[in-house]
Amino acid sequence: MGIDVAENLRGVLASLPERIKLVAVSKYHPAEYIEAAYAVGQRAFGESHEQELAKKQAALPKDIEWHFIGHLQTNKVKYIAPYISMIEAVDSLKLLREINKQAAKNNRVIDVLLELHIAEEETKYGLTLSDCRSLLASGEWRELHNVRICGLMMMASNVEDERQIRAEFLTAATFFDEVKAQYFADNAAFKERSWGMSHDYRIAVDCRSTMVRVGTTIFGPRVYE
Ligand SMILES: *Cc1c(COP(=O)(O)O)cnc(C)c1O
Repeated sequence: MGIDVAENLRGVLASLPERIKLVAVSKYHPAEYIEAAYAVGQRAFGESHEQELAKKQAALPKDIEWHFIGHLQTNKVKYIAPYISMIEAVDSLKLLREINKQAAKNNRVIDVLLELHIAEEETKYGLTLSDCRSLLASGEWRELHNVRICGLMMMASNVEDERQIRAEFLTAATFFDEVKAQYFADNAAFKERSWGMSHDYRIAVDCRSTMVRVGTTIFGPRVYE
């Protein structure tokens, strides 16, 4: 291992306020890297490809809490439904329905976050604020008893300009308050604001993030094959 995962992880943990949950993003990294983080006590890991996750899930300790953080196709939900802890990037009612269906088949309730699209980049997935308002206004989610909507997730634009990143996080935080008041005021489960990655998690922490998803700072650069 050319990289000191344990030391990097300890550094990130030391820089995070205690109330913030760290999801260590292990996509494209080998199982040994996850084991090194696990040995330090890390339990929540983020992956974004179903097949890669399936292999890791089978090989690694069963008390790992897997978060699916990438774009999830509806036809892949059935493979992760038996074990996934949280699906972070729900961006359509269709996907929410399928997660509910597969969760029910497994006698589970699956935690999910709704993914917002606030960044300027066109390639990013996610619901615009108005799409998200419509999804919630439709009310159908209330009948989906095998999914539990635990909050919102988003990625800021991949830019240097800290003010822009901050403005996007704050837009998400304000939107969280709107949705919380309108639909989840008496629902304690709706509490997560998942924003912040390696290059911007310190800003995210300032902007009311409750959950950061950090990969590169812990595991080094990803090698894509
Ligand atoms: C890959 C990924 C991350 C981690 O990115 P780093 O820059 O390596 O910290 C976080 N969130 C999502 C949705 C990702 O796909």
